[in-house]
Amino acid sequence: MSTSLNASRAVWLHIGAGSFHRAHQAWYLHRLIAKGDTRWSVALANIRDDATPLLDALAEQNGQYVLETVTPQGERQYETITSIRKVIPWDNELAALMAEGARPETRVISFTVTEGGYYLDNQFNLDQGNGDIQADLLGGCRTIYGTIAQLLEYRKQLNGDPVTLLNCDNLRHNGERFRHGLMQFLQLRQEKALIGWIESHTRCPNTMVDRITPRPSPDVAQRVAQATGFQDRAPVMGEAFIQWVIEDDFIAGRPALEEVGVELVESVLQYEEAKIRILNASHSCIAWAGTLIGQSFIHESTGTPAICQLAYDYVTQDVIPSLTPSPLDLVAYRDVVLERFSNPHIRDTNQRVAADGFSKIPGFITPTLQECYQRGQVPAATAMLPALFFVFMQRWHQHNLPYDYQDGILDAAAVHQMFNSADPVAVFAADEKLFSTLAHSAPFAQLLRQSIDKVNHWLTQ
Ligand code: NAD
Repeated sequence: MSTSLNASRAVWLHIGAGSFHRAHQAWYLHRLIAKGDTRWSVALANIRDDATPLLDALAEQNGQYVLETVTPQGERQYETITSIRKVIPWDNELAALMAEGARPETRVISFTVTEGGYYLDNQFNLDQGNGDIQADLLGGCRTIYGTIAQLLEYRKQLNGDPVTLLNCDNLRHNGERFRHGLMQFLQLRQEKALIGWIESHTRCPNTMVDRITPRPSPDVAQRVAQATGFQDRAPVMGEAFIQWVIEDDFIAGRPALEEVGVELVESVLQYEEAKIRILNASHSCIAWAGTLIGQSFIHESTGTPAICQLAYDYVTQDVIPSLTPSPLDLVAYRDVVLERFSNPHIRDTNQRVAADGFSKIPGFITPTLQECYQRGQVPAATAMLPALFFVFMQRWHQHNLPYDYQDGILDAAAVHQMFNSADPVAVFAADEKLFSTLAHSAPFAQLLRQSIDKVNHWLTQ
């Protein structure tokens, strides 16, 4: 069933009916409508069949649902989100989604298909060995690339109007990375005409998105019913904090997002860098440390003074000097991030956040180590993060972690080999994939050894 309410002039098509879109982008567009600006509305679709029950529930509720937000102090608020005016039913060929994307009224197509939905390797090139990518190269629409390629071909033939493609996933340089993947995909399909059309008729601004949105547990619907009287079949829950920074490069117009708190900037890079180093790296630090002392939840570990201090010192002593000057108030950002992590009502797990260390160290942590050395400073606080990860992986090697460790690029044999070697710390410190140029630095190896000793000392206290 397709639900079309008010005929709005401009459509924002979103692909990826997960929780995050409904707690984030849909909320901003709802706020605009609530302020009286009804020029834009959302049409919601999904590539995979896994959101069909949710899409059906939403369609029956005319696209409306309740968003519950909760502050670190436990104050809960409930808001009925009204920006989704069309719920696009899933079908095998995604025919309704393609038709929506080709309409001239559709001027922005955004997507949240998870980090893994871009199939990019360490060098950010398309993983051509992936089965879904291979199927899409033969004309399928199982991935964002096959779907967008088909949709844009259809659009080019039907009306040819330009459109903005807006990646809202947690990926560094997300617009650029998606565009690069899409172009590689089309080159493999030898779609020269479509590549030329995309170059002149689309834009892919980078965005930085932020709001911790766990998967809604059954008690969310119960609280929503209690607070609002509405038996919502599609409620969503997130933290009260929200942020969205977008490069202001829309080719076919955009909603007046600045009216509802979105930061429209020339370059998102400084915001993204602050988020990756202050939020994401501290998050991992807390999850690794918390796991090592037997804790399960992020808020418990953030509330443990010794662990919070590790994250605080890392940001204060090493990250802030690296990122200054910045358009952000980095001190305030650090404090807000630590407060958000301490929110006991979100119940985010150390297991979820501890994942993917082998990608996070080079992406989130090594740049700070390198920059400290470049300005003549010993990165003692930052070195504690890979030291924690080393001890964490030692537990993994000994089958002594309380949960399954998930890491998309884990080389299990190499890790076991490292811990079975005569000097595991030396092997770890010399890993170029983790530490880049520092892998050849004797002072860094020594610092890492001292930091690992500190972690072990802390654990025996
Ligand atoms: P979710 O599990 O609720 O939804 C995931 C969505 O992605 C579903 O619609 C699913 O069908 C789709 N999907 C998964 N793999 C896909 C693939 N390979 N190809 C196409 N579609 C695919 O997750 P969510 O909470 O909505 O989060 C989605 C993404 O949003 C995250 O991966 C992240 O990049 C971004 N994000 C989430 C949060 C958060 O706290 N949840 C915060 C910031 C950013």
